[in-house]
Amino acid sequence: MIEFKDVFLSFSGRMILSGISMQIPDGRITAILGPSGSGKSTIIKLMLGLIQPTYGNVCVDGVDISRFSEEQLFPIRRTMGIVFQGNALFDSMSVSDNMGFFLRENLDLPPGEIERRVHDQLQFAGLELQAHQLPDSLSGGMRKRVAIGRAPIFEPKMILFDEPTAGLDPVSSKKILDVIKQLNQDKQLGAVMVTHVISDVISVADTVLVLYQGKLIFHDTPEKMQECDHPFVQSFLADPEQL
Ligand code: ADP
Ligand code: MG
Repeated sequence: MIEFKDVFLSFSGRMILSGISMQIPDGRITAILGPSGSGKSTIIKLMLGLIQPTYGNVCVDGVDISRFSEEQLFPIRRTMGIVFQGNALFDSMSVSDNMGFFLRENLDLPPGEIERRVHDQLQFAGLELQAHQLPDSLSGGMRKRVAIGRAPIFEPKMILFDEPTAGLDPVSSKKILDVIKQLNQDKQLGAVMVTHVISDVISVADTVLVLYQGKLIFHDTPEKMQECDHPFVQSFLADPEQL
């Protein structure tokens, strides 16, 4: 479980998050919906300990990581896979080398085991035919699938997705959302997905939190958003393209 306890974050004196408290359970798909610039990527960075809260605590499985050193964060980060908005692929490496890179660098596994895990992930992501291609030769949707295929390679409990459908056409977006759902169903992997796209949320999330002006203004199932009387939620539902 990832827990935020009254988290405040400011960048150069400007408050981005002002008192965020939430509990994100394992094994479920939780979406954080918010406008561009509302602090969604910042929340992902806080979960990974890439930045520290100005005030408040971030706990992972009951351990307060808010003031952890890089060394202390290492085992914590192992429990989380991350799919960055820009995918963070290595352009000069093939798809399969991208998938296996962190395993080779970080775990003392026999080569056969690395190959097995990479093969499983290629298969899962539907990229076996592209295994030897470079990322640049793939479509945007396929590059996203490489990044998603790579994320569970350490067998984490939770995967964090930053705007997983950004820049993708509707068909590719749907494929990516299907992959997210499948990871959750097949491997009981939890997911945190931050997005400004309401259809992402409706199609996969068990729970949605809405982030607006530094605060969480809604926390319930996607269906319950209709009943929320906060003006931002209402105007957003009326015109989802406004963000
Ligand atoms: P989102 O992902 O919701 O679009 P971000 O979390 O990237 O928003 O950013 C939230 C706000 O914080 C934005 O106004 C952004 O300009 C600012 N911000 C993000 N990172 C930094 C940083 N490292 N230094 C200063 N300001 C930042
Ligand atoms: Mg962002």
